[in-house]
Amino acid sequence: MSTPALKIYNTLTRRKEDFRPIDPANVRMYVCGPTVYDYAHIGNARPLIVFDVLFRLLRHLYGAEHVTYVRNITDVDDKINARAFERGISIRELTEETNKIFQADVKALGCLEPTVQPRATEHIAQMIAIIERLIASGHAYAADGHVLFDVPSMPSYGRLSRRSLDEMLAGARVDVAPYKRGDMDFVLWKPSKENEPGWDSPWGRGRPGWHIECSAMSWAHLGETFDIHGGGIDLVFPHHENEIAQSCCAFGQDVMANYWMHNGFLQVEGEKMSKSLGNFVTIHELLHTEKFGGHPWTGPVLRLAMLMTHYRHPIDWTVPRLRESRALLSKWGKLIGVGVKEHFTFEDEWWWVAGPSVFIQERLADDLDSPGAVASLSSAFDAAFSSNSPDTIRRLASDLHFLGLMDADSLAVWSPIEGGPNDLSPDTIGLVNQLLMSRNAARASKNWAESDRIRDELAAMGIALKDNKDGTTTWEVKR
Ligand SMILES: [Zn+2]
Repeated sequence: MSTPALKIYNTLTRRKEDFRPIDPANVRMYVCGPTVYDYAHIGNARPLIVFDVLFRLLRHLYGAEHVTYVRNITDVDDKINARAFERGISIRELTEETNKIFQADVKALGCLEPTVQPRATEHIAQMIAIIERLIASGHAYAADGHVLFDVPSMPSYGRLSRRSLDEMLAGARVDVAPYKRGDMDFVLWKPSKENEPGWDSPWGRGRPGWHIECSAMSWAHLGETFDIHGGGIDLVFPHHENEIAQSCCAFGQDVMANYWMHNGFLQVEGEKMSKSLGNFVTIHELLHTEKFGGHPWTGPVLRLAMLMTHYRHPIDWTVPRLRESRALLSKWGKLIGVGVKEHFTFEDEWWWVAGPSVFIQERLADDLDSPGAVASLSSAFDAAFSSNSPDTIRRLASDLHFLGLMDADSLAVWSPIEGGPNDLSPDTIGLVNQLLMSRNAARASKNWAESDRIRDELAAMGIALKDNKDGTTTWEVKR
């Protein structure tokens, strides 16, 4: 089977489209990263995981060395200034500390490191260069120490969010300021007070607006136009709309990125997450505390729970969802743990880094259908469980590895016997496998009496069998 073509849903056209990179030898993706002033919440984890899966798929399709993934770090922002002041520490201390926790969180979630993680404070020169171009071409103006983007100067403004200027004005909280020519005009540069971080510029000592950061960092690392721009759906307007305005007008291009991808919202236990509702939960708390569900969860459990829903759909983050994810991983992991003992040695890495199966590739190539991929993992488990053959176990293991759900560390956890009231021990799984193989042999030789006897023996152990139309047999534990 050949590699399936990648299709992605493009917010710009509101259609699922074939993905055609500008240069297959250099596929380029930019995703808006965190503002490092506090712990990242679980809603922030969604784009991290979604675009990590896409990064993995692109690397597989085009070759790891042909994909550049840029995820920025916003380390200059009014929220950072306020928090550092509150805590009585320097801005540098706050952003360093927060970034360190953020990096540990994303690593625990099984995300690969992006190719580049540029920092806003290291791209001030590029921001100033873009602003100068915008002023020179009549798309921005300086007033009162500020520089503003002149929104009416761009006729196609609003193309991504598909809103007219009137609609935007009605929906936006507009800051009225004497230096603004139009209500929708947004800040590119603003003056800094003595105690605020600031850089020298042609417009006095100041600091950048938020939107200009992404235009500058994507330009520095990916060029004037690139392939994919991603982020949460809440960024479509105004952040992404403004990035497009800045980049297209500064570089005279029709598009900033050809494909715009946005993940859906995340709710917690059926409600919008907010500090006032008391349901605000950070990645760090989920990994290390008892706050959500009474105990900490592992990174793979959080990751699989996220992937059980399609990235464009809203997701409801609940304890039962995490339990379901944990049960699946534990079942899959134990089978692999037993299989490794039987067929492979831990030293041989080849058996689990074989790359994704065509089933997983097909699902992910269809606009990152991760629930379909999870269903495919379940089929892979059933096949591995009923046959216990090295090939089927390897398929399950390498698919889990490809999706970032299993590595050598998780295997080390799974391979010894693990307790728990609802879990089968690896020894029991091994025995069930053996009995299933004997029963398959009996059925192949039409020895129905022996086949029935084994079915009864398994039933006595609490295992129910189901013979499927496609000739496979699946099983479940009777509760
Ligand atoms: Zn951005």
